[in-house]
Amino acid sequence: MQFGACRYIYNWALDYSRWEYQENKTTTFRKDWQALIPKLKEYLPWLAENGNAQSLQSELAHLESAFKRFYKKKAGFPKFKSKHGKQSLSVPQQFKLNLETNRLSITKLKDIKIVLSKDISGMNLRSVTITKTCTGKYFASILYETGQEAPTAPIPVKRRSLGIDLGLKDFAILSTGTKVSNPKFLERDQKRLRRLSQAFSRKKKDSKNRSKAKLKLALLHETISNRRSNFLHNLTHDLTCENKGAKTLCVETLNVKGMMKNHCLARSISSVSWGEFIRQLDYKCRWSGMNLLSCGKFDPTSKTCSHCKAKNDSLKLSDRAWMCSACGCQHDRDINAAKNIVDFAFSNLHGRGEASEVLYPELAGEIKPVEMKALVVAKAATKLLSVKQEVCLSL
Ligand SMILES: [Zn+2]
Repeated sequence: MQFGACRYIYNWALDYSRWEYQENKTTTFRKDWQALIPKLKEYLPWLAENGNAQSLQSELAHLESAFKRFYKKKAGFPKFKSKHGKQSLSVPQQFKLNLETNRLSITKLKDIKIVLSKDISGMNLRSVTITKTCTGKYFASILYETGQEAPTAPIPVKRRSLGIDLGLKDFAILSTGTKVSNPKFLERDQKRLRRLSQAFSRKKKDSKNRSKAKLKLALLHETISNRRSNFLHNLTHDLTCENKGAKTLCVETLNVKGMMKNHCLARSISSVSWGEFIRQLDYKCRWSGMNLLSCGKFDPTSKTCSHCKAKNDSLKLSDRAWMCSACGCQHDRDINAAKNIVDFAFSNLHGRGEASEVLYPELAGEIKPVEMKALVVAKAATKLLSVKQEVCLSL
């Protein structure tokens, strides 16, 4: 019921702001929606009964940030939440966690028995988000403060950097020459997936067999996505924790949207989840005091010789290995690209490349790091900003 109340509020506020805009050409904000909630509760007693006020408030906050992303042209127009599919609600306050009995109590909900995956005793708990998956599993993610300060990232130094080129055949190619092959989880189960979805669509609407088939299909999707996320977490963990020596990771800013236009590759690209990989790298780098740099979308990372910097314009996508005509160096296409990513990322960072504007988080507001051409993603950004000059001189 709580899920329903939260979903209702979200959809109601979205509908209301759409209506206001169409009828009166006015944009409504969170405070406008909030002001109407008491009236809404009068009309709909079930909402007052079931909805935790805090959770309803946070739904409005979510909608507001969805609108903000839309106005900044970073996302499409907010969509209505559906009753089917994944459900979630967040509880910013008004919850208690009893670690001895392993029970979570939330206002207007019964005590919930939980299984903790981590010891969080003594932590400063901030909020809880409860999710229900399509397969009917419930999860609670608890946000807490550890009380430790985020480690400071050192000044990026080229020889302690690792370039990562992302690809389809090999998932990641490191500038050290290591290749991580693409596990292709979706492709592996493609046949089963097709069979299950055919079986599902053949079943009569609203029948028991249809919901059974739906669950089966959802379970397979869940397995695939769990495998993928496990793979990504392991890989990003290895890159950020196990990489002794490397303190800076360099990645490419991928033009995923442009690549998706190629229909032959669209499925493989969406299944390979580079975006999620970079998102994980980003926060894990911050956790472990590392830098994440990125080179520009249009930097010729593949066509440039990493040894003498000569450009090979005749390089085709199918050429996996090539020889530089200027210096005679033999190159593996991807390893060469990974090496160049480091060079381009550093030249962008120091304003010598095409991206002369080096943006830092506190200057750039909420812009996602990978969207900027060169950016040090580190908690120590302010520190870096003040030593930036020094870096330029020493290189
Ligand atoms: Zn060369």
